[in-house]
Amino acid sequence: MSESVKKVPKKEPDAEEVRRRWRGLIAWLLLGLAMLWLWQSAIEGLRVTTIPYSAFKAHLDRGEVVEALIKNDVIEGEIDPKEETAPGAAEAEPEEEETPTDPFRFRTVRVEDPNLVEELDAAGVQYVGERPSVLSQFLVAWFIPIALIVLLWMFMARRMREAAGSALSLGRNKAKIVADTDTGVSFADVAGCDEAKAELQEVVQFLREPARYEALGAKIPKGVLLVGPPGTGKTLVARAVAGEARVPFYQMSGSDFVEMFVGVGAARVRDLFEQATKQAPCIVFIDEIDAIGRTRGTHVGVVNDEREQTLNQLLVEMDGFDSNRGVILLAATNRPDVLDRALLRPGRFDRQVVLDAPDVEGRKAILAVHMRNKPVDDGVDLAAVARVTPGFSGADLANAVNEAALLAARRDAKALTQHDLEEAVEKVVAGPERKSRRLTDAERRRVAYHEVGHALVAHCSPHADPVHKISIVPRGKAALGYTLQLPTDELYLVTRSQLLDRIRAALGGRAAEDVVFAEVSSGAENDLEKATAMARQMITMLGMSDKIGLAHVARRTNPYLPGAASLEGTADCSPQTAREIDEEVRELLARAYREAKQILVERRETLEHAAAELLEHETLDASTFLAIAGERGNHVRP
Ligand code: ADP
Ligand code: MG
Ligand code: ZN
Repeated sequence: MSESVKKVPKKEPDAEEVRRRWRGLIAWLLLGLAMLWLWQSAIEGLRVTTIPYSAFKAHLDRGEVVEALIKNDVIEGEIDPKEETAPGAAEAEPEEEETPTDPFRFRTVRVEDPNLVEELDAAGVQYVGERPSVLSQFLVAWFIPIALIVLLWMFMARRMREAAGSALSLGRNKAKIVADTDTGVSFADVAGCDEAKAELQEVVQFLREPARYEALGAKIPKGVLLVGPPGTGKTLVARAVAGEARVPFYQMSGSDFVEMFVGVGAARVRDLFEQATKQAPCIVFIDEIDAIGRTRGTHVGVVNDEREQTLNQLLVEMDGFDSNRGVILLAATNRPDVLDRALLRPGRFDRQVVLDAPDVEGRKAILAVHMRNKPVDDGVDLAAVARVTPGFSGADLANAVNEAALLAARRDAKALTQHDLEEAVEKVVAGPERKSRRLTDAERRRVAYHEVGHALVAHCSPHADPVHKISIVPRGKAALGYTLQLPTDELYLVTRSQLLDRIRAALGGRAAEDVVFAEVSSGAENDLEKATAMARQMITMLGMSDKIGLAHVARRTNPYLPGAASLEGTADCSPQTAREIDEEVRELLARAYREAKQILVERRETLEHAAAELLEHETLDASTFLAIAGERGNHVRP
């Protein structure tokens, strides 16, 4: 999805800007002067020849020194060399290639020489002494260091004032958010969530023609909360609402409000609403609102103070504005469970729109949206792709379509084919193929039996999802092979038998290794993890164990972010029950494993046959596998 470009109006140079330019000019001027001065003194330095003291004495002996200025530590002056240089003098300066014959200015570092004055007198040189004046001594010893220190101090003070100033005006600066006047997204770009769109259509209608609603005295909801798992298009749909209504769109993320400094977030909320009210009608969108909207009082610390203040300010602002003036607040989150109750009460976010993972039809529509501007081969069947992608979110599908386009580009093809799409889906599910990964023959054999084990056990379990594909091409980081099972229909409920069959199929790989090689390997870790999780879920959450009964004894988890256990919900049971649960899990898994092994022992021939085929072809599709394993369902349950 292309981000729409934010248009920032070009600013007129203001007084501050002009002043800054002048300051820059002056600085350059000063720099130029300094350079000039340096240059001149360098030239000066070139004209003056520095000579050793001994050479100076030699010139003095020969009476060539015309004048001398005797300073504290150097002697400067002029030397006029005589035409015929004495042989002694030539020896005195053997390293000098040519003795200068023209008068030149010299400079030499003074050496302790008590007789210098007498010698100068004898040579009849005009000489002047110069002592550093009291003033210059004072300047060097006191004034310059002090001036430097003062300058430095002023510089630092200014820096600190600037830093402090920007800290105080933080809220202001950042809240100068630019409203997107045109998000460039419309409802046509959002597919597969028609209910959500229908609900939001009302908001769009209201923003377009508020009079119709006002005439009837209808109040439009102030806030709409978009809830759903990651990647289901919450951000997208919010932008689409603004695009449809053609109103400015203020977007901020919850984390934009949370800062180190207490009070900044609250100031930002205030600014945001101030600006939005001026711009009405408009939409204010707070993405990932859980960053500030968490239940108050559950954590301690400075960040928490800040968050509470921000949240309080948000609550106050939401009470303070009247949605009929045309400011509508949208917010998105995938953690509605942690939101503060005060946010969700009527009059605030009183409407919740759920965006769920799309179903088959929805997935087909989303695929179509993302295939819109791509060249597509005639044979592409989006419905088929939609069928093999259960559980994919909108973002996953967008990603898969993009992968397909990349694959097509790699082939140098003109259009995307069905094969590209299927390959891309597999890549998204299992990671990229790693053909370069070299397995030894023994390993490949083991992987083949393992995967066929999964497939065959699933095949012989009437409630397991049918096998779609078996492969021993290594993929992603860890998978050495995989068996893809896909449900025939979208399932909203799972029965106990289906769960048991899934667990058995998950253990099928390990069972096959056991049966064939009489030794197991490390390749089943992921399977075991999945099987254990399913078993535990059955027992603790779904009331499917006789021993534990109907009690829900699990940690509470977030329905939209599975796996993210919330801190508040620790295990809801006594240690005694916890031990019983562990035993129950172990027993359930053991039973499933026994059954899987039994299936494989009974159908050893099929196992061998399918594994041989798999070793030869690397992948088996559903029909090939069916041809080997026979029709489903005629297996007697153990
Ligand atoms: P989130 O719900 O996490 O905010 P986004 O709105 O950021 O998800 O969705 C990410 C990307 O996934 C979108 O930019 C879009 O390309 C794609 N996407 C998600 N849902 C849909 C949908 N319903 N229709 C079309 N594209 C979708
Ligand atoms: Mg988002
Ligand atoms: Zn496995």
